[in-house]
Order: sequence, then structure tokens, then C-alpha cells
Amino acid sequence: MAKITDVRAYPLRTRTALVRVSTDAGVEGIGECSPMNVPVMCHFVETALRPIVLGGDPLDTERLWDAMYYGTHKLGTAGTQPSCIAGVDIALWDVKGKLLGQPLHRLLGGAVRTTFTMYKSIGGGGAMAPDEMLERVREAWDQGFRAFKIRMDWHYRQDVDPAKDLEMFRLCRDFLPAEIPLSFDANNGYSVPMAIRQGRKLEALGAAHFEEPVAPTNYEGIRQVADALDLPVSAGEHEYTRWQFRDLILTARPDILQPDVVKCGGLTEALRIKALAETWDLPVMPHMTQPTIGNAASLHLCATIPLSARPHEYTGPRADLDGLFTDPWEFRDGTMTIPDRPGLGLTLDERALEAGRER
Ligand code: CA
Repeated sequence: MAKITDVRAYPLRTRTALVRVSTDAGVEGIGECSPMNVPVMCHFVETALRPIVLGGDPLDTERLWDAMYYGTHKLGTAGTQPSCIAGVDIALWDVKGKLLGQPLHRLLGGAVRTTFTMYKSIGGGGAMAPDEMLERVREAWDQGFRAFKIRMDWHYRQDVDPAKDLEMFRLCRDFLPAEIPLSFDANNGYSVPMAIRQGRKLEALGAAHFEEPVAPTNYEGIRQVADALDLPVSAGEHEYTRWQFRDLILTARPDILQPDVVKCGGLTEALRIKALAETWDLPVMPHMTQPTIGNAASLHLCATIPLSARPHEYTGPRADLDGLFTDPWEFRDGTMTIPDRPGLGLTLDERALEAGRER
């Protein structure tokens, strides 16, 4: 039996909350938390979670998840707590894969696919003119992307300039060949009636999916929009743990679920959310803004989900992040393939890591 000997969380200059779990078996695992506030996340991992898992068996992923969750649930069961549990949980799965000499998708149940079409997720649309967004789409096309989503990324607003949003989508849609998927992420910026009107127009323009049309807390509103449109409506990046996904499914009834493995509680919890998705026959199209560790964990998970056939979110290759690993995953011809290596399949370059640590 292996034993967990240390749990550390490091803030990196890349705005990464890196988690490292050491064991007495000579194997170490890596994970990351959602980087909403990196110093806070790292502090939570080291002060709240580390004492709970120290001395535990890294193969006991569910037992350790429960211990972390119930040991800290009074510190909040959304946001920081499940995201920090995610960082540790992913690192534990990485340890498990390395100890057993298996890629994670095999331990998570077996892959139905290991190659994914990655869609370029382009944010900042709310502050851009339509032709600026078109330029970003062109650049991503030249990088090899063959699926896209434009995100408005505004903060708490409603119905500010819907005509401009549509014009932006139309310009990008006209540039891309008809068979290339393009989605629209409203980032919660519409009222329910506006979301329905915009959604009908996006549908006519051929949008692949309509993401987060209204406030994430407005489950009834999401349901009204999803019921009114044929265009698939997605939600879930603001939900944490199986209990919030249960409520989202029962009340909001989105057409597509978007769990984020570095937010929702890690791979252990994502498997439970997968079971809910399959119970309601709902496709899973994850939210993912972390292009290395988070992305790897998300692809291992999606490899095992038959209803996860849509393109996977990707903010694009980043040299500063890829440089932290001796074996960064390759993005080629718009796709990414899970390498056949134990665990997550990513190895830290210790020298690059030392240089990249936030002091
Ligand atoms: Ca989104």
C-alpha cells in the first residue's frame, strides 16, 4: 500500500494553481485548481485539504474525496472548496495511473475515443467590434482550428447591444465554411425574452450551440430559453458537484451539460456527474479554460463518455504553459490525441517549474 507523504500547491506565473501529491512509492501526481484566485486556492489546498489526505492511500480516490468534501463543507460547497478538491483529486488519479501503469481513461472506465476535435474558444467579444472578433477567428483558422466558439465575456450586464452581438456572429459565420461548427456564448448577458429572440436569430444563422444565455442562477429562465428554441442551449460551468448538477438538470433542463473538471470537484465527482448526464440522456460538452493539466484531465474523462462527441473547448496552445512539461500534448490539424502514457500523461520539467514559480 502506498501512502500520501505530502500535498503542495504552488502559484505559477502562468496564473496556475498547481497541486503536487507525493507518495512513499516514488510516484508523484499533479493536478490543478480553477485559477479564480490562485493564492487563495493554494492556501486552501495546503491548510484545509493537506491535513485530511496526508497518510492516506492514494488509490482510495472516492474515500479521500468524501473525506475532503465532508471535512471542509462548512467552508463552502461551491467555488473554492470543490475547485481545490479538484486539484488534489486529479493529482491522486495521476498517482493511481502511474502506480498501475495505465492511462487515466482506462482507469475511468475505458475510452470510446482518444482523438478530439478541439474548438477554439475566443473570449472578449463584448468589448470588441465585430471585425476584431473576425480577425481572431481568422488567426485561429490559420492555426488549424476547425471548430469555434465566440464568447462575450462581459460582467453582469443585460441586453446592452444585441444587434452588435449578432453582427459579430454573422461576420464570423460568413467567413467559416458551412460545415465548420461555430457557437455563441452569451456569458449570462441576456434577459429571458432577449435570449429567446437572439437564439432564434442565431439558430437561423446556423449556430452550433447557444451557451449560457441568461444568469446562471436563473434556472427557470434557462428552462424557458431551452424550451423555446430548437438550438441546443448549454449550461453548467457555474455548477459544482453532483448536487448542483442534479438541480440544474431537474429545473433548468439545458440541452447540453458543461461540467468543468477543475471546478466541479475533479475526476471523482465528474464521474458522478457523468452518471447523472447519462441518466437524463444529456450530452456532456465540458467547460475548460486550462490548456494543460485541466485539459488533459477533461479529455481523459470525455474519452469515456459516449455522449461527449461534440468538439472540446480549448483556449489554444500556450508556449509558457507547454514549457512547464517535458512532454506537452500536441495540437495538430484541429485535433488533440491522448498520448498512451500512465496517469494524466504530463511530466513536469523541474527546471522550468522552478523558473515559473511565483515568488
Ligand atoms: Ca462559457
